[in-house]
Amino acid sequence: MNVSELRVRVVRKTTEAVDISTFELVNVDARPLPAFSAGSHIDVHLPNGLTRQYSLCNDPSEGHRYLIGVLRDAASRGGSQAMHEQVKEGDVITVLGRTQKNPTVEHAMEEVKGRGIPEWLSFDTNTITGRVNAMPTREQINLPVQEQLIVELYSK
Ligand SMILES: Cc1cc2nc3c(=O)[nH]c(=O)nc-3n(C[C@H](O)[C@H](O)[C@H](O)COP(=O)(O)OP(=O)(O)OC[C@H]3O[C@@H](n4cnc5c(N)ncnc54)[C@H](O)[C@@H]3O)c2cc1C
Repeated sequence: MNVSELRVRVVRKTTEAVDISTFELVNVDARPLPAFSAGSHIDVHLPNGLTRQYSLCNDPSEGHRYLIGVLRDAASRGGSQAMHEQVKEGDVITVLGRTQKNPTVEHAMEEVKGRGIPEWLSFDTNTITGRVNAMPTREQINLPVQEQLIVELYSK
């Protein structure tokens, strides 16, 4: 595991939905950030002294930024609350990058290679990014589901 402490600047804070904000972080010295793979997270040292973990949710091929999304926990003891109320655009914060490969994601990637990608999806196993190209038809969803049973259950 590659662990490194970094000083990063919050260049954008965006309200994405009620109680969910994203934070775009770049290196203070403008150098590229350490590479990461899908499933990696960073430890964020908050202004109130707490440390909380947040998953990196941008494309791993983007070397210039980390993007995290934070849900404000209604029962917060201060972590997500500080992210929402204290951390602002322009602030410099310290994060601990944990850029290890995630075994669950690695395993899933191997399975994808063996199973193939359905035609209604496109997927890049190098950057671990996907796109839904079209709504699948029922015939394209190869799951052993009997929809009639579901309809009957919820009709009771
Ligand atoms: C690897 C990892 C990745 C994560 N990625 C994300 C992410 O991408 N986005 C995100 O929003 N969050 C993520 N989290 C969760 C995040 O780190 C924080 O836990 C979250 O923001 C809540 O922190 P808080 O201080 O606001 O809440 P806390 O005060 O830590 O409370 C969290 C919950 O624990 C309960 N709780 C309070 N006190 C106790 C207690 N004494 N014992 C047990 N439970 C208690 C509360 O009811 C509350 O619902 C991740 C966590 C991990 C470990």
